Amino acid sequence: MADNGVVDITILGAGPTGLSAAYYAGHRDASVRIVESLEQLGGQVAAVYPEKHVYDVAGHPKILAQSLVDLCAEQGLQYGPEVLLGEEVQKLEEIEENGESVLEITTSKNSRLLSRSLIITAGHGAFEPRKLGIDTIDEWEGRGLHYFVREKEVFRERNCVIVGGGDSALDWALGLQDTARLPISLVHRRDRFRALESSVNEARRLEEQGQVRILTPCEVREIHGDGRIEAVTIEDVAKGELVTVPCEALITLLGFHSHLGAIADWGLELEGKRQIRVDPMTMETNLPRIFAAGDVAGYPGKITLITIGMGEAAIAANNAVAQVRGEKVQPKYSTD
Ligand SMILES: Cc1cc2nc3c(=O)[nH]c(=O)nc-3n(C[C@H](O)[C@H](O)[C@H](O)COP(=O)(O)OP(=O)(O)OC[C@H]3O[C@@H](n4cnc5c(N)ncnc54)[C@H](O)[C@@H]3O)c2cc1C
Repeated sequence: MADNGVVDITILGAGPTGLSAAYYAGHRDASVRIVESLEQLGGQVAAVYPEKHVYDVAGHPKILAQSLVDLCAEQGLQYGPEVLLGEEVQKLEEIEENGESVLEITTSKNSRLLSRSLIITAGHGAFEPRKLGIDTIDEWEGRGLHYFVREKEVFRERNCVIVGGGDSALDWALGLQDTARLPISLVHRRDRFRALESSVNEARRLEEQGQVRILTPCEVREIHGDGRIEAVTIEDVAKGELVTVPCEALITLLGFHSHLGAIADWGLELEGKRQIRVDPMTMETNLPRIFAAGDVAGYPGKITLITIGMGEAAIAANNAVAQVRGEKVQPKYSTD
């Protein structure tokens, strides 16, 4: 579809918004490329909460998060965009290519990608999990240390220690009850959990039945194992007492750091610290031919929800197509 490697629209980020933008651009017969820093499609939905249910996306009264983004991918990829996974977008320049002024982006794998316009759908930026403050922590990645629960089956009959005090930690202490070996240990450095009260109450009820072991105010101090994690030592920070518990899966759910990274240095005007300012009528940024949509796009009154990102994707894609073609914006119905 690309003409001398130049596509009409490059989409940065393959979350629900990027996939929706790919659909709308493809539907208008634009040539499209998607670049995603993770090795998978689906953005936060697939990376952070694939096995939760989502209730507020129009047309889906209740849908598993992973199924939702699988459908977004099926819809978004139906016109055959080029998809580059595992590449983080870094540099942006405006260059001349065969007499045409185009945008050139360079990725972490040194790909040089040419495009007539960009739609940035980078969510909160390339995100990274917050880690335990243990010096050797990185060495246990892929050896029993998990930052996400992607597939419950990975934890079947495993001794699991979950660390965290928010919704994700509580949700998985409950959500792995039918999978992990019981009790599941839940470690939090404070006595009070931040999670939804009903989840905390349920965890306390399961504790009475011996299905959850709540360790607060506690912190994981040491990881033990020969090749893979076998046990962890946990300190009760109020009493200074140490306990070592068997652990084959250490699941740390401490949230994410995210930053726009190199995109923040492109000269885009920001809305607050984390969002790119756009005109909500067109989703255009202050830089010509660069649009933004979804969680990364900011304007007064913005709500960061999947549905909103999908609507903004339609606006951004139709405006980008019109701009590339020098036409008025004329969205088309999809029915045939
Ligand atoms: C626990 C949780 C529950 C939620 N529940 C709901 C809910 O019930 N309903 C709802 O509407 N919303 C919910 N949300 C919010 C929803 O997930 C987001 O609004 C949505 O994912 C935003 O989609 P997006 O495509 O804009 O961004 P994202 O999903 O964040 O996707 C952005 C993608 O861009 C990629 N990227 C970033 N920077 C770069 C770069 N430089 N180069 C290449 N790729 C890059 C990222 O890796 C990521 O895959 C929830 C969020 C969380 C964390």
